[in-house]
Amino acid sequence: MLAAIDDAFNHESSLLGRFLTTTAHFMLYAVGAATLARIPFYLGIDHWTVRLAQFVAALLMLIGGLHIIHTRMCARCIADVPIDASARAEKERRVLRLNHALATKRGVGTYLGLIVAAVLANEVFGLPRVVYLPVDAAVVALTYSAWLHHRVRPWCPHCRPWDNGEGIRESSPDPVVKATR
Ligand SMILES: [Zn+2]
Ligand SMILES: [Zn+2]
Repeated sequence: MLAAIDDAFNHESSLLGRFLTTTAHFMLYAVGAATLARIPFYLGIDHWTVRLAQFVAALLMLIGGLHIIHTRMCARCIADVPIDASARAEKERRVLRLNHALATKRGVGTYLGLIVAAVLANEVFGLPRVVYLPVDAAVVALTYSAWLHHRVRPWCPHCRPWDNGEGIRESSPDPVVKATR
């Protein structure tokens, strides 16, 4: 299963591979669209178009997430690396920290706990839909932090000390060299 996903995401020559790569880069737009689609949901509107928009946005975020996990930096990802990547990584180190925290068992557990709590509160105890807000906030934070982390990974201050073998081992490029490029 994993090998099949890996394969699909790394075949730029196949139609599916190109489709996945292209779609994956809509990830941040998908988060924006998903957030907008939540407004009618919170207002209690259950029209099928709202559900469809939510479904499409969730699918795009999933493809974007799998692209990050399974693809080596593709040309478009490299093009998205900010020019001031090291400064950006430093400035947004808390976002990157969050990405590391969410990737742990405790992070996943917290996320699942939020979902269960929200569903229970809404469906069983009849509380208003606002109880889903923490879940939505977690999804936005997770998606943005994963997107950012993928692009500034060589400069991520949290990858280096606790490198688990997957991260890049060589030290980050000198910021001065980078800036004069
Ligand atoms: Zn990419
Ligand atoms: Zn990192």
